[in-house]
Amino acid sequence: MRLTFDKLPGYSNLHRCKLCGKVVTHIRNHYHVHFPGRFECPLCRATYTRSDNLRTHCRFKHPLFNPDTRKFDLQTEGLDLNSSITSNDKSS
Ligand SMILES: [Zn+2]
Ligand SMILES: [Zn+2]
Repeated sequence: MRLTFDKLPGYSNLHRCKLCGKVVTHIRNHYHVHFPGRFECPLCRATYTRSDNLRTHCRFKHPLFNPDTRKFDLQTEGLDLNSSITSNDKSS
């Protein structure tokens, strides 16, 4: 990714895109302008060309991770958190 950008001398956070000449601050964001077909798993860095492939990957490899919201979904079906809480009543 770094090869696509030249660091602007004198500026710590500015980079010039070698592909379109645009000066950007967030190279990762701008990278997706030219390579929109890259979907990267934030957990294991596996890359896919299609978002549904990444979704399938996450479903098998990281069942609790929701790639759409990029958050861990603890309310997933099949994982009933409430069933383990049976009795907190210790009074006798
Ligand atoms: Zn560019
Ligand atoms: Zn992954």
